[in-house]
Amino acid sequence: LPEAFKHAQPILETLEAEGYEAYFVGGSVRDTLLGRAPHDVDIATSAYPEEVKQLFKKTVDTGIEHGTVMVLDHGDGYEITTFRTESGYTDYRRPDKVKFVRNLSEDLKRRDFTINALALKADGTVIDMFDGLTDLKQHILRAVGDPSERFNEDALRMMRAVRFAAQLNFGIDLQTKQAIVKKRNLLAKISVERLNDEMTKLLQAPNAQLGLLMLIMLELNQYLPGLNQKDIDLWGYTEQLAVRQPQTATQAWTLMAFELGLTASDAGDFLRLWKHSNELIQMAQAALRVLNIARMDVPTDWDLYQAGPALVTAQAVGEISEMPMMGSDWNRRYERLPIHKRQELAINGQTLMQELKMPAGPKLGQILLKLEQAVVADQVANTKDALLAQAVKLDASPQA
Ligand code: ATP
Ligand code: MG
Repeated sequence: LPEAFKHAQPILETLEAEGYEAYFVGGSVRDTLLGRAPHDVDIATSAYPEEVKQLFKKTVDTGIEHGTVMVLDHGDGYEITTFRTESGYTDYRRPDKVKFVRNLSEDLKRRDFTINALALKADGTVIDMFDGLTDLKQHILRAVGDPSERFNEDALRMMRAVRFAAQLNFGIDLQTKQAIVKKRNLLAKISVERLNDEMTKLLQAPNAQLGLLMLIMLELNQYLPGLNQKDIDLWGYTEQLAVRQPQTATQAWTLMAFELGLTASDAGDFLRLWKHSNELIQMAQAALRVLNIARMDVPTDWDLYQAGPALVTAQAVGEISEMPMMGSDWNRRYERLPIHKRQELAINGQTLMQELKMPAGPKLGQILLKLEQAVVADQVANTKDALLAQAVKLDASPQA
């Protein structure tokens, strides 16, 4: 049994000793057979959730309504899901009914691709009902059963096909591809959150370029938020992804917005369509402001200062995009700035009002901004005396 499964082996053995069937299933089996390190090890069993809970000391109901119980008896938590079938799918995305069953084959049948429908027994035997091992060898994604029916049941599977293509560097079987072309309009029924999850994984995958090219050629983008216009430059984007891939979701989406030529403000609208968090959106916008400046010019210290923590994202995206202006190291320049936020200025509005008897108001704000800019540009030392002297000069000058 491969190393990754050894820790969880006692769980399978406990279930088997009670007369139940239990297997490792899903991505962990696929990845291990490919010689890749699996992340989460999923277990499927004929035991019903209540039966699982009786057999183990420490369990958590992580998804008991769809049959999943987390078992914590052996250190790491393992998700154990009862064999189940799904039926209904009147909305193209969620089964109307989930039914627990006692046999493995019913459970494997509902899975999306043959390579994801393999099961591994505690003794190391692989159960391969749909010739998934051959597809694994030939690097093919093939829907389990009739592809059109499977995409009718859950249209997200079409996005999963291109996502797995990008992650595994696999091709898509011809019939499965033809079914995607036939059923792609159903993607419009899928919740943005689920689409986002798949897209975010695709964009960070080792072969993101392949996944995105497939997505474009199958015209899935026509049914994805903000990517349906004919004139968007997804092609240019795929070219950049061939060399290097973004390492975080924020980088991935900032890169997408940048390659599509969006302003920070349009990127905000685009990312909101995809229901990204405000945190990701603000970070992407700050990174885009400096990146868009860098299309024309070397950004000033003030530009870098304003980007702040978003500079790490901007630098990474600029490098993936092979920006000509990326020659100098923005992060290093940023580190060397005399201050990194307004609060680090040696004076504030209060000081100006007290020491120089300046009235509150817009002029005070303008003077503070000029002082901040002068300190960042290293034109004035960040000391109280130097800044007060500069403030007096600015106060006397007509533009301030
Ligand atoms: P990874 O976790 O590496 O992204 P995975 O194959 O484990 O890949 P998950 O989304 O974690 O993918 O799903 C686990 C398993 O559940 C899959 O391998 C597949 O068998 C099944 N599965 C997940 N989503 C679907 C779906 N939408 N339709 C059919 N089967 C699915
Ligand atoms: Mg998984």
